[in-house]
Amino acid sequence: MSWETIYNRIEDEFGEDAVRNAPMSERINFRVGGPADILVRPRHIARLQRLMRLISGTDVPTFIFSGGSNLIVRDGGIRGVVIDVSQGFDEMSFTRMPDGTTHLFIGAGRTVADMVDACAERGLAGVEWGAGIPGTVGGGIKGNAGTRDGDFAGSLRSVQMVEFDGHLSDYERRDLVFRYRGLVKIGRFIIVSGVLVLRDGDKAAIRKSIDDMIAWRYERQPYEMASAGSIFKNPPEAPAGRLIDQAGLKGTRVGGAMVSDVHTNFIVNEKEATARDILELIEIVKAKVKEVHGVDLLQEVIVVGEDDRTPQKVSAGHMLQRNDAEERNDDVD
Ligand SMILES: Cc1cc2nc3c(=O)[nH]c(=O)nc-3n(C[C@H](O)[C@H](O)[C@H](O)COP(=O)(O)OP(=O)(O)OC[C@H]3O[C@@H](n4cnc5c(N)ncnc54)[C@H](O)[C@@H]3O)c2cc1C
Repeated sequence: MSWETIYNRIEDEFGEDAVRNAPMSERINFRVGGPADILVRPRHIARLQRLMRLISGTDVPTFIFSGGSNLIVRDGGIRGVVIDVSQGFDEMSFTRMPDGTTHLFIGAGRTVADMVDACAERGLAGVEWGAGIPGTVGGGIKGNAGTRDGDFAGSLRSVQMVEFDGHLSDYERRDLVFRYRGLVKIGRFIIVSGVLVLRDGDKAAIRKSIDDMIAWRYERQPYEMASAGSIFKNPPEAPAGRLIDQAGLKGTRVGGAMVSDVHTNFIVNEKEATARDILELIEIVKAKVKEVHGVDLLQEVIVVGEDDRTPQKVSAGHMLQRNDAEERNDDVD
């Protein structure tokens, strides 16, 4: 079946929730990147399962998208189907447990900010580490988002996912493997919700630690500029930002992209940067840090799409491999 036939079927089924040539630069924090062939918002589990059944068994590539705060989309855009789980998937409920803890059931489309605020309002402690982390709960679980004070891996009780064959699975935390900034799992899946464990706390103290963290971010990060947060993982040797700073890279520019002078592990889109500008700058930073410190920096930010928009007939097999490889890298590095 041709991709065009699949796209038409998706449009028939999803109506306004299927957008052709969807500009990704409008949807990601970095404000770069070309369009996705088709972006679909399934909004709830049954429709997501229906979408997966339309796609599974075909060679059309897929990419899961939510808050767009950890992504660089290349300038040629994304071939295939982008599944947007940032809309819908918004359930949130609190259950008091016999052991005195409270379980929060939260949909993957909720923002981490919603999660942190809802807990603070109820005087429930345990997720203050999420204060100021952009993006959604689903993206946060997939990337094990967090800070040195905590992360999703430390707060989760279970995770619900739709597998690529459309099957809905519920995993206990103990059956999942997380690493620094990632959930390690074989096969492809879409996180639809999670359950987190909270404990009673002091409302004022919780609010204060959240406010302090957000104030710290405004002071120490280019928080309101277009970026994807930390570009590199912190290597064992030292924080990536310090290595970049010591290599003299603060303020280095390629086109409209610049190594932030506020936090050197951030690259900011200062003036209408292209994805190519950012990716070139990343390579410059990697090479210089290797030269000066002998350290290989690993990327935390996820890169998707292709440099130029090439006809589907020519690129189909190639792109399928490339998309799959990106997901694999993300899962195993
Ligand atoms: C200013 C700034 C500060 C930041 N600070 C931090 C920080 O302190 N700590 C931190 O960890 N991160 C930080 N980040 C990075 C980013 O906010 C996190 O990585 C965030 O968790 C990404 O979530 P998202 O919803 O935006 O995911 P996206 O960027 O949309 O996607 C990220 C990855 O997750 C996958 N994905 C998304 N949703 C799902 C889903 N439902 N199921 C399966 N896979 C999915 C995508 O395919 C992609 O591979 C920061 C970013 C910015 C811009």
